[in-house]
Amino acid sequence: MSVTQRYTPGGMNILMKTVMPEVTWPAMVPGRAADLLAILHQLEQTQWWPAERIVEHQMKQLRLVLIHAYQNSTFYRLRMDKAGFDPAVPLNKARWSQLPILARDEVQDVGESLYCQSFPSTHGGTYETQTSGSTGKVVKVRGTHLTNFFWQAVTLREHHWHRRDFTGTLSVIRFTPEGTPPEGTVFRDWGLPANQLYNTGPSMTLNIATDIRKQSAWLETHQPHYLLTYPSNLAGLISHFREDGISLKNLREVRTIGETLTPALRRACRENLGVPVIDLYSSQEMGYIALQCPECESYHIQAEVVFVEIIDDAGKPCAPGEIGRVVVSGLHNFAMPLIRYEVGDYAEVGVDCSCGRGLPTISRILGRSRNLLTLPTGERFWPILGFQHYREIAPIRQFQLVQRTLDRIEARFVVNAPLDKFQENKLTALIQQSMGYPFKIEFTYLDQIPKSVAGKFEEFISEVTPVTI
Ligand SMILES: [Zn+2]
Repeated sequence: MSVTQRYTPGGMNILMKTVMPEVTWPAMVPGRAADLLAILHQLEQTQWWPAERIVEHQMKQLRLVLIHAYQNSTFYRLRMDKAGFDPAVPLNKARWSQLPILARDEVQDVGESLYCQSFPSTHGGTYETQTSGSTGKVVKVRGTHLTNFFWQAVTLREHHWHRRDFTGTLSVIRFTPEGTPPEGTVFRDWGLPANQLYNTGPSMTLNIATDIRKQSAWLETHQPHYLLTYPSNLAGLISHFREDGISLKNLREVRTIGETLTPALRRACRENLGVPVIDLYSSQEMGYIALQCPECESYHIQAEVVFVEIIDDAGKPCAPGEIGRVVVSGLHNFAMPLIRYEVGDYAEVGVDCSCGRGLPTISRILGRSRNLLTLPTGERFWPILGFQHYREIAPIRQFQLVQRTLDRIEARFVVNAPLDKFQENKLTALIQQSMGYPFKIEFTYLDQIPKSVAGKFEEFISEVTPVTI
């Protein structure tokens, strides 16, 4: 693989998997793994391209997405016709900005009409996922084998950027159907995509809805080199470690996903666990949006897979240092194109990075955050809210849950129409089941749910044990 010495991952002394037992070096890499390497080889070059050259190629690729969307989606055809937009004309940034912004509310309303009637069979099968993103507004999206393939390539890029040692042990605490406490689930390798290319060390997963003390005991048992979790859960772990004087002697790095990471939490991790935090910015709908630079704490937009705009309230691009709405367009989703999709986060435009990469930068992201839930038993954990199923019960546009007391939860909803008692009862049962405790659920209906003063959207607020870091 063509990676310079300076950016080779720490684990590059590990040989890649080979398909020929008699040829171990250099490794003969088969099929899918070879395809990933082919993309990684290109990403290794393109990250250093000048910004203008990157945009030029993004526009060429986006034009193909637009033409496909126009031909295969009634929604996009009407939208482009209404805007007087001819998708066949070569694109530039000025023309691109004539396309309307796709709001999250619209995706909720039009739903599956965003799906294309057909797409190239070479993109493989489809999968669907539901997400509340950073706003408490649940949407359903569809991806393909191809979009997943690019997700894997960027995952490997991120490992390489941060020079991970693939022989290390990786512990993951996140929302997952596996990983039932207290043992969690142990795997012999790191799973996809790292195990496509490398013989990795073991990994283990623990479900996020596990009491912080049990998480801590689990981590002490496995003594990982790497930990991946959500920022709010990391904050809970750090405060527990601090109280009980626990340390993880092998730990080299914590990786965070899914929520806004604050500078204070970065500091607390370094001071209490003695390791840096590497943050990733992604969304279920778009996959990776930006990765932390290997040399500083700013984020590089993954311009080979997404086109990202940060715009002000008037729709104009923000300048470095300004904070605006994040609007993302996927370069490879031909099953459900998301064109100028407003994900619901705010971000600050960064300056050219000193590392020399031409990939644009974001200096900070204001997305979502959660507090931990506390049970009357004293157990504390990251709450599972059950939001994926809210819209199966009632036309809920946006939600926010607040733990008022140890046994009382306020459910704040923005709705299309008032809910009846039957729907409220079903939602109560769903929330109680998701949280694993029979909380008293009180319903409040609002016109909108504002972001916090810090600009983050809080899906779950605890008035019992607010965040301490
Ligand atoms: Zn950089």
